Amino acid sequence: MTVSIATSSHTMAPRRRTRSHHVELATVQQAHRLSARLRWFRFACDRVGSGWTPGDKIMLRVSNRARRAYTLCAVDPDRDEFEVVAIAHGAGPGGVWAGQLAVGDTTEFQAPKRDVDIRIEREGTVVLLGDETALGLFAGVGARAPETAALIGAVEHPAHVGNAHRTLSLNLEAVGGDPAHPGGGLLAWLQRTPFVPRDAHYIVCGHRTVVRRIAGELTERGVHSERVRARTYWS
Ligand SMILES: Cc1cc2nc3c(=O)[nH]c(=O)nc-3n(C[C@H](O)[C@H](O)[C@H](O)COP(=O)(O)OP(=O)(O)OC[C@H]3O[C@@H](n4cnc5c(N)ncnc54)[C@H](O)[C@@H]3O)c2cc1C
Repeated sequence: MTVSIATSSHTMAPRRRTRSHHVELATVQQAHRLSARLRWFRFACDRVGSGWTPGDKIMLRVSNRARRAYTLCAVDPDRDEFEVVAIAHGAGPGGVWAGQLAVGDTTEFQAPKRDVDIRIEREGTVVLLGDETALGLFAGVGARAPETAALIGAVEHPAHVGNAHRTLSLNLEAVGGDPAHPGGGLLAWLQRTPFVPRDAHYIVCGHRTVVRRIAGELTERGVHSERVRARTYWS
């Protein structure tokens, strides 16, 4: 399946925040299945804030009782639209919601907030390593990175699902993984990728075990902790 998804460029205007607890409504404009359990959504809302940036965390209402954290993978201030990738894993309210959400559905959200620092230097290599929940974050990195920066890395899928992430314009490798041992596929990727510049920066994100294993491996390889930005997305 080929889905052409245009990720919008980011806005660099000074951040102006709406009140953090102010609840707004977003309507699904487009919905695509990127794989059996990966969903991509484009939402429209009344007003995209001038400071909203790809990579920001957005809290979405996924059921009467639950809100869950997702990541803006693209923001379109001209159309007041934003994009999210969500895993339809089915085990919790968010996983069920992602599997059922369709064009025309609405959901409440709170104004996005910056979460992981994904500012990228003009030149140099950034290594992105994570599981499927990190796809939105990595798409945000891709949208914001200067053209002179080199982005490499891999995304671990519980079963090898091909190149779903390429539809997000991410030139990352898809590696298979064993859900019983999260992060194993990414460790194997690191082992067969011997040449990564010493001054590379790393963004590591996903399941708690994935983040721990990869951050531990990088430390063992002598990568300074200042070069690693790690964020647990779920456990
Ligand atoms: C800052 C931030 C940004 C995030 N951005 C995204 C994003 O862009 N896209 C995205 O899909 N997720 C994202 N996540 C992760 C998402 O918030 C969690 O996966 C959340 O737990 C999903 O809620 P749930 O109701 O489905 O499951 P929960 O009610 O939290 O948990 C129920 C069960 O589901 C399991 N579970 C939770 N998440 C997953 C998963 N991804 N795969 C398999 N099993 C799971 C749990 O281990 C638990 O057993 C982000 C998290 C954070 C903190």
